[in-house]
Amino acid sequence: MPRVSCLTRNPVTCEVCASSVKPGSKNRRRNTSLLIRYAQPGGGKKNIVIDVGKFFWHSAIEWFPRYQVPGIDAIVITHAHADAIGGMDDLRDWTNNVQEAIPIYLRQRDLDVIAKTHFYLVDASLQTGGGGIAKLRFDLIDEEPFEVHGLKLTPLPVEHGERMIALGYRFGDFSYVSDASHIPDSTAKLIEGSDILVMDALRATPHRSHFNIEQAIEQIRRFRPRKAYLVDMTHDSDHEKTNAELAKLKTSEGLDIELAYDGLKLETLL
Ligand SMILES: [Zn+2]
Ligand SMILES: [Zn+2]
Repeated sequence: MPRVSCLTRNPVTCEVCASSVKPGSKNRRRNTSLLIRYAQPGGGKKNIVIDVGKFFWHSAIEWFPRYQVPGIDAIVITHAHADAIGGMDDLRDWTNNVQEAIPIYLRQRDLDVIAKTHFYLVDASLQTGGGGIAKLRFDLIDEEPFEVHGLKLTPLPVEHGERMIALGYRFGDFSYVSDASHIPDSTAKLIEGSDILVMDALRATPHRSHFNIEQAIEQIRRFRPRKAYLVDMTHDSDHEKTNAELAKLKTSEGLDIELAYDGLKLETLL
């Protein structure tokens, strides 16, 4: 967000895209991603990023200096679509200048896609340029819980359209489901009891591979977390107007739901 085509239309008719380019607008949305700053028992924090999409670099230049995030201790991938893996090339900044390598946790099927889209990052012998490419260490996961720097992550397999199983992740009482069109009962059991739930809510109208807003609310009714955040919104959703609508659900049903926004910072006990 925004769409360039909305900004070049004459006259501009899309209020959401037009407002998104104003400084500080919450309608300016880069690819959905989460940085977990996990406090270590001995002091310090580990920085674990979920997804590095096409606009990862644009997010990082805005938020990493502001939140003082010098290094990336691990990356965890939800699925191999461009909005989750498209920023892999830009990881070279860290491995050229900050750290030796970055571990990436992902499934074999997602690595297979990256071996095509970013072949030189998977097999460095195929590079043709002279510059330093990102040094990535691929750690394969399946659907079993795994640990990253002492943080237990439980994969949440969800349908993301008919041809893809994507993973959400739960850590502590925080569940993150950024790309889903159906949550099977077996995964619902893993989400139950979440304090904070992040849910895909693409737009108002139906979509093949994402929940729309009404379907996302239906999922929040299913799990009834203390707090829910919607992510992945297109230009159909103005931040303030949609939040005003969602606030009515707090009064009527006790559901506390807001749109997430770039730079949103939360604290949770693990
Ligand atoms: Zn627009
Ligand atoms: Zn996707």
